Amino acid sequence: MARLAIQAEPTKFHHLLAILDNCGILQRIYSQNIDGLEAKVGFEIFSKEKNRRCILLHGNVATVQCKKCATPYMLENFLPLLQVGKPIDCPACVDRKSNAKALAKRAKAPGLLRPNILLFNEPCPMAYEIADISSSDANLVHNNHVLLISGTSLKIPGIKSILNCFTKAMSKRINCTTIYVDNAPQKPPILPPNTLHLQMDCQLFAELTTPRIKSHFSAKEARYILERRDFRPLWDWS
Ligand SMILES: [Zn+2]
Repeated sequence: MARLAIQAEPTKFHHLLAILDNCGILQRIYSQNIDGLEAKVGFEIFSKEKNRRCILLHGNVATVQCKKCATPYMLENFLPLLQVGKPIDCPACVDRKSNAKALAKRAKAPGLLRPNILLFNEPCPMAYEIADISSSDANLVHNNHVLLISGTSLKIPGIKSILNCFTKAMSKRINCTTIYVDNAPQKPPILPPNTLHLQMDCQLFAELTTPRIKSHFSAKEARYILERRDFRPLWDWS
């Protein structure tokens, strides 16, 4: 699976997200994907900074991380060892151990590397941090805010909490829109009644939307739009 993720290429939808970010109108991505493809269109997914633009809710299959110090690494660097079933010590912990030894201090055993993904029934180690980031994002919700949801049936409790946090904040503002892009005939009941359900594949949505955004932001008034940070749905742009 990790090998496939390493070889995979980002989709039109990933590129759309990168374009929205480059145009200055993307606040944050909350992704349930574990393929880490967001990194291939320029999003920082290794950062632990709170202001990182992309939050991988379920981790990244192309990476491993230390059980003790949580330092992340690219999985491909350790594939030969993993393939022979060898447990791998965390290089950062190993460095700390040798430094401690050199200073004649007590050296702690290094942590082992584990897949950097959320396993079935495992509690999310970032749950508090994600709740913190999503509630501060909800506080920044403004009039004309757009919440774009795609590729999820919104059944997982964590994603439901994030959604509730945003829809509550958006209900207190003017002209906010929730867009749900999915082939399903019905939208999930948790979505607000005024959600715009675009019953289509998200790649088609990206294909239709990308040229419009590009032409809009290359227009003469692009600077003005960026300055006023116009978040209305694209079809409302004059
Ligand atoms: Zn470590």
